[in-house]
Amino acid sequence: MKGLCILGSTGSIGVNTLDVAARHPEKYKIVALSANSQVERLLEQCEQYQPEYAVMANEDSAQLLAERLKDKNSSVKVLSGIPGLETIASLDQVDYVMAAIVGAAGLKPTLAAARTGKRVLLANKEALVMSGQIFMDEVKKNNAELLPIDSEHNAIFQCMPEGYKGLSESGITKILLTGSGGPFRTKALSELEEVTPDQACAHPNWSMGRKISVDSATMMNKGLELIEACWLFQTTPDNIQIIVHPQSVIHSMVQYSDGSVLAQLGQPDMRTPIAHALSWPDRIDSGVEKLDFFSVSKLEFEEPDYERFPCLRLAEESIRKGGTAPAILNAANEVAVASFLDNELKFTDIPLIVEQTLNNSPSRPALSLDEILEDDLAARKEAEQLIALRVKQAK
Ligand code: NDP
Repeated sequence: MKGLCILGSTGSIGVNTLDVAARHPEKYKIVALSANSQVERLLEQCEQYQPEYAVMANEDSAQLLAERLKDKNSSVKVLSGIPGLETIASLDQVDYVMAAIVGAAGLKPTLAAARTGKRVLLANKEALVMSGQIFMDEVKKNNAELLPIDSEHNAIFQCMPEGYKGLSESGITKILLTGSGGPFRTKALSELEEVTPDQACAHPNWSMGRKISVDSATMMNKGLELIEACWLFQTTPDNIQIIVHPQSVIHSMVQYSDGSVLAQLGQPDMRTPIAHALSWPDRIDSGVEKLDFFSVSKLEFEEPDYERFPCLRLAEESIRKGGTAPAILNAANEVAVASFLDNELKFTDIPLIVEQTLNNSPSRPALSLDEILEDDLAARKEAEQLIALRVKQAK
């Protein structure tokens, strides 16, 4: 029986994780759940799954949750804030931590899981993008296990040899990172300026949270995944090729020196990588419908369009630059996406804000978490000012 902590249990990945874990009550015990501010949703999950702990990042929401649980005579312990999240990620009775908070907010709790030697199921790619080397060092130093949840990285992991030590040592010539191209792959460029948040969040194949859905529409998601792949598989962008594959049936591939290409295929349903990472190296039922090849009419592949998706270039430049540049890229993107979702900023302004923030924010070697967080904060302020200026000019 493995003790499971789900950081971000009320989100899209969190709910899918609970779905898979609940299919195997003899294997997984839900020890701790967390959310930011959705009190009612976390309350429902507490009633259904009876964890020992529930954490709300937002202090007021935590108080409300504690009151609601008390009314129901529940024994669930309620904690709050980042310290509460770090506590549940480090509990002795927790073996596996699903890191499914969205954005930079997940960094400290995910690091806490690595530092206490847990199996870290990493969905929160922003944490790795920000802290790359520091995070990977903590995993190694504390004998933590790092298993990717992003369907692409999970696919790559599945296509790599056991005990992977590096690309060339494994006879790998390229990682082929696939992406659907999102909802605007073929939309006229002239129409992109006016797209709404709901249009941007209407992904053709995947059902996901709103932030990652916008990232998929700008293809910043693929850029963040490029950076994530560099850290997870200890390589550089030169060895990773992005391939647009609109059907999202192949989740990514690995090309070997003898000409073989190994791919992982499946339905676009996050319960597959979640089940894989929970049960690895075994396999368990995930509840996902089996892939029917006769209903998959065709598989298409295209080169990515860097003019349509400038975020791809920005992400690649930032990982090549290194240091705190990816953290600055990520911070600016989080601020710009939130502003777009709030109907302030235009969709096409997202890459402009990210690029200007990168140009105006000096990066440095990422030697400590404090330095990374300082540069993250400075980039957020810079991006906010640039957005305020842009919104004012547009009026
Ligand atoms: P959602 O927006 O659906 O859920 C986010 C979760 O994080 C919620 O539980 C939310 O709580 C919580 N949260 C939000 N802000 C904070 C905060 N400041 N402090 C603490 N907790 C917070 O996101 P997704 O599930 O879609 O994505 C989660 C992560 O997984 C992202 O990093 C994403 O890139 C990655 N990912 C997601 C995929 C998907 O299919 N959804 C696929 C691959 C990767 P509340 O509900 O209270 O707001």
